[in-house]
Amino acid sequence: MHKITTILLLPIILLLFSLNAFAQIPHLSGEITLSTKKGTINCAFNLSNIPSLEDYTIWLNTGFNIARITDETGETKYHYSKSYNDKSSEAFQYTLTTKPSQGKFLPKSLTFSYTGAFPVSPDTTQMYASGDWKGNIAFNGATVRMTEQSAWYPILYDVKNDKVINNYTYTIKVNNEDGGATYLNGGIPKTGGANTFSSNSPVPMLLFSGDFTFLQQQGIHFINTTLSPQERDMLSQLTNSMVDFYSDKMKIPYGSKISYLETTPVSKYSAWLFVTYPTVALVGRQFTLHNLFSNNPHLAVDTASYSMIAHELAHYYFGTIFTPNSDLKWVFLEGVNEYLSLQFVKDKFGRKAYQKKLSNYLKATEGIKQLIPLDKLKATTPLNDAYKYNYIPLLLTVLEKEIGVQKMWKWLNLVASSKGEATDYPFFKSSFMKSGISPKTYSAFEEKYILHEKSKENLIEEVNRQLSTTTAKKR
Ligand SMILES: [Zn+2]
Repeated sequence: MHKITTILLLPIILLLFSLNAFAQIPHLSGEITLSTKKGTINCAFNLSNIPSLEDYTIWLNTGFNIARITDETGETKYHYSKSYNDKSSEAFQYTLTTKPSQGKFLPKSLTFSYTGAFPVSPDTTQMYASGDWKGNIAFNGATVRMTEQSAWYPILYDVKNDKVINNYTYTIKVNNEDGGATYLNGGIPKTGGANTFSSNSPVPMLLFSGDFTFLQQQGIHFINTTLSPQERDMLSQLTNSMVDFYSDKMKIPYGSKISYLETTPVSKYSAWLFVTYPTVALVGRQFTLHNLFSNNPHLAVDTASYSMIAHELAHYYFGTIFTPNSDLKWVFLEGVNEYLSLQFVKDKFGRKAYQKKLSNYLKATEGIKQLIPLDKLKATTPLNDAYKYNYIPLLLTVLEKEIGVQKMWKWLNLVASSKGEATDYPFFKSSFMKSGISPKTYSAFEEKYILHEKSKENLIEEVNRQLSTTTAKKR
């Protein structure tokens, strides 16, 4: 009896252990002291609950100088070395040894002490035209913005599985020597020069601190935005309808409430939206959140803005709960994500808006000079925006025509739920089989639209056919 129980329990215990390896979430605690006027940052952090990784590096922004990396008691018993490679443009990669001659070593808990000084750029006349981006530690004179991409806190990288581990739980004290307010992603904004923030759910960490105001409306935080109450109301409603649509179709509940953050870049004209879930941020000077609205004839969210916001909110699935890597990283991160947001546009704004999107994708795809087939992509292949944001959603739209939108939703769910796999072409292909598409159907699609020497022409022809038949039907 006892033996049988043990035998039955063993696979369950093993399963629990292997799930635990995935579920082990690092916790960051400690203190950051910064000055928005001087551009200085001092960090004293402890990273605990570090998962065991066969091979790893630890990333920290190249602008930081390390004072110490120690155990939690502060004993300086580890030696560190640093290198730089194309896995991150923003960070140095650190590894530790207990003795210089020995191999890499990663304890369960590490304490970091480091400091850095960054340019403060309040004067637009002295700025470059472009050159601000999500991974920048940006002091614009009033505030500082730093995201997980900048590696302002120690980021773990699992070399073997090509996986960046940057979603942490945290308890952190933020001191801003110049006062103001602070927002740390996963928490709520607070006023005052010294505040402690904590999050029990793992999040990528975006820190925004300095001179700004904030408020809450319909459960959504508006941080440093200058929207009118009516505009905030519209944006809240739109956000909630997107969240409802995605969670219903994806059959994966959307996480916590979105926050909107607005700030100016440290370059003259850079303007873009990014997501560090649950924050949607707009960085721009001429282009602000106001530009999402039109006033003609009444105040409304501008149609072009719908798909932009829909794209950003879809990153909860492709980029947050599912983080692609390997050869098709950008295909999944931006292309599949864009296809998902296209479904919202189709559902909420109908055929005309949908076809307009398809026509735009088509125009951009026609402009791609040398289209590299999906099965030939490498992680190092440079991909332009047309490929990521236009060609990929178009390719998926053509497949959708073959297999139906329900199977596409099943596929999106399957991909977003997958864990720890290399997202390369074999994964792309097998994920369709796993979601119930017959090998024969996939092969026919693959042959015509991926492997064929005229795959691009075939795609363009098919989309044109779809566009003309749907228009003809309408007449
Ligand atoms: Zn995106």
